[in-house]
Amino acid sequence: MKTHIMNKDLSMEVLRDGLTARDVLTNKVNSGGRDDKDDAFFVCDLGDVVNKYKKWVSCLPRVEPFYAVKCNDSPHVLQVLANLGTGFDCASKTEVQTVLNLGVAPDRIVYANPCKQTSHIRYAKKNSVDLMTFDNEDELHKIKNYFPDARLLLRILPPAAEAQCQLGMKFGCHPSQAPKLLEVAAQLDLSVVGVSFHVGSGCLEASAFARGVESAKRIFNIADQYGFDFDMLDIGGGFPGQESAAISFDEIVADLGPALDEHFPPASGVRIIAEPGRYFVASAFTVAVNIVAKRMVARDIQEFKDEEAEDAVMNSVAPSMCEEPAFMYYVNDGVYGSFNCLLYDHAAVTPSLMRDVDKEEALFSTSVWGPTCDGLDRIMEHCLLPELQVGDWILFEDMGAYTMAAASTFNGFSKPSCYYVVDANMWSSNNHAFIQSECYTRRQVKDSSITLPAIKRGLCAQERLGITQIPSVAVPEV
Ligand SMILES: *Cc1c(COP(=O)(O)O)cnc(C)c1O
Repeated sequence: MKTHIMNKDLSMEVLRDGLTARDVLTNKVNSGGRDDKDDAFFVCDLGDVVNKYKKWVSCLPRVEPFYAVKCNDSPHVLQVLANLGTGFDCASKTEVQTVLNLGVAPDRIVYANPCKQTSHIRYAKKNSVDLMTFDNEDELHKIKNYFPDARLLLRILPPAAEAQCQLGMKFGCHPSQAPKLLEVAAQLDLSVVGVSFHVGSGCLEASAFARGVESAKRIFNIADQYGFDFDMLDIGGGFPGQESAAISFDEIVADLGPALDEHFPPASGVRIIAEPGRYFVASAFTVAVNIVAKRMVARDIQEFKDEEAEDAVMNSVAPSMCEEPAFMYYVNDGVYGSFNCLLYDHAAVTPSLMRDVDKEEALFSTSVWGPTCDGLDRIMEHCLLPELQVGDWILFEDMGAYTMAAASTFNGFSKPSCYYVVDANMWSSNNHAFIQSECYTRRQVKDSSITLPAIKRGLCAQERLGITQIPSVAVPEV
């Protein structure tokens, strides 16, 4: 492995000799390189993010992705996406600031929070981030007061769809309210440029996007009555990011592509953007957690004859008719950390082991618990695993979306660190994704809590970041 510098603060490891991210997990587990050898940690395969981008471009070439920063604001991921040229969906001043500080031009940001704090609107204005969403009348007055030149997208409520996380109860105006809002916007002399919708995060119905596109088209059809000439459609997020998702990206594309071609053909001149979050990051991250404690629990609960005794078995995995014991493992990341996705994102996670499991090996009823002293902190209520020991590792794949972004350090348990890796072939054939090589046009970010290096206009990324020697971009040694 060789460490490469992405920019002043970020580095990643290039994997050679056919080494995989899984091998890195194994190596990290077995190496003494880390301070606390038994701390939980992530490995992120940045090549996976690049592959997602390529797939997006080939499947939806007319749709520009604006990555939803809230999903995972890892600076490495943001940098790779910035290098690839995506836009960004930001919901707050800090997210806007973070993205601008990468050197991304303000016109590559959509401020896609329909309910914005006024000081954040002022910040957006100051930094020329002028594309933003709204879904209510009060927001229009706010925007009139603080950023009258903003370009607005009306966020509508798309037809109902099953989703992992519904957003419709919080955001989006009912299409029947759209005429009224457009009328108010026109009276205020604001500029509404198009429509946005979000089918729900982790959408479970492939057809939901096409239905949203149809709804949006109906609003486009009435825009000119209010003096607007819409030229932008924002189809939001909700695209799955992992193989195990209920619907696949391909299924969505099969439905969405034709709907876009029908209602918004290239000749319409309408620019189409999307706000994928989990799509880009879910599968890139794997977390390794260490078993810090173990408890063997009651054998066959049927041995307890009376109900009182049954109640005495306080864990929820007590087996019923089996002879074997059940095991409770306490690991060093949980629902107050990366596994907050179980609560907030209604996610399902699957454990795997670092070693192969022999077909003959006995499996036991198992529950997996987080490290905090809260009984709520449970990762798996029930799964079947071989017997494990304190110090063993359990892996959870597909842990990139809505995990580390919302983790806390409740009870004094720190968040896992993350190792960023990329396979050597990916590295050499997509160097532009990992190393900033072009001169981004940007203005200096003022009013920033993050200290920026003094930047002269026109300097290249490396120069701006104080890297005098451009990091190796040659094919890595094998
Ligand atoms: C959360 C969010 C997204 C991203 O949703 P995913 O399901 O992760 O793709 C996109 N747009 C808006 C407005 C959001 O709130």
